[in-house]
Amino acid sequence: MFNNLSDKLDKAFHVLKGHGKITEVNVAETLKEVRRALLDADVNFKIAKEFTKRVKEKAIGQDVLTTLNPGQLMVKLVKDELTELMGGETVGINLGGSPTVILMSGLQGSGKTTFSGKLANYLKTKKTKQVLLVGCDVYRPAAINQLQVVGEQIGVEVYAEVGNNNPVEISQNAIKYAKANGKNVVIIDTAGRLAVDDEMMTEISNIHKAIEPQETLFVVDSMTGQDAVNTAKAFNDILNFDGVILTKLDGDTRGGAALSIKSVVNKPIKFIGTGEKMEAIDVFHPDRMAERILG
Ligand code: GDP
Repeated sequence: MFNNLSDKLDKAFHVLKGHGKITEVNVAETLKEVRRALLDADVNFKIAKEFTKRVKEKAIGQDVLTTLNPGQLMVKLVKDELTELMGGETVGINLGGSPTVILMSGLQGSGKTTFSGKLANYLKTKKTKQVLLVGCDVYRPAAINQLQVVGEQIGVEVYAEVGNNNPVEISQNAIKYAKANGKNVVIIDTAGRLAVDDEMMTEISNIHKAIEPQETLFVVDSMTGQDAVNTAKAFNDILNFDGVILTKLDGDTRGGAALSIKSVVNKPIKFIGTGEKMEAIDVFHPDRMAERILG
């Protein structure tokens, strides 16, 4: 995960980690390299610039050059700042409501259906919840089939209405069904498009208004870098969602989405997807991720 970024940051700290006297010039050079590493990871220019500015201010504030081990302190300052950049705290999902209604949003191919299954499985096994998965992609019968396959695999019931092409109605009916059948979590998988368009936004917004979910999650493919951030912004403007799900972190992703999304939409990353299997889901911990990046 983020191997390229880790390597570049490691190289950036090379001089500071060496012996010999460390000067202000060394620190400035290191920060420049850190900024370059962030830009290479597809972090937005402004975010990268502000990042190094904050680290520099802290380094000056803590009189880094006079400390016993300036190299170690600089690594710590960068690690703390990376943690902050990714949201600081771990934020869980709201399981209130009866039933808890969770709405999935995002583009087609981002991993919504897969993640809906993973989350259902997670809630079922870790939180002993009775989960209902709901297929609301009325345009692609294959999407409903895919959800049904996932449901069978994890032993979770799937609600779908063949022939009904009104996703608002389907989700409302599904919630009624859940109440009548002892389900306390309803996960609604919605239709995505290949790019943001008005029709999709109106549809998801209508579902959102009609069912007032406890959690609205935005699912995004971490491989898409700055596009991921722009899409997040477009969905957040419409839905004011509660959290981000970053998928495909097992791939060769550069890290830009993970590092930028929080500061752009000011919403926490709640879970990550690390593979195609139902078990490949992790709660997102900004501090552990920063630790991982800095090795
Ligand atoms: P949707 O269109 O948003 O519902 O996306 P899907 O759930 O169908 O996922 C699109 C593709 O991405 C599928 O082939 C999934 O197996 C794959 N996928 C989803 N999440 C992950 C992940 O975390 N890692 C990897 N490697 N593949 C994933």
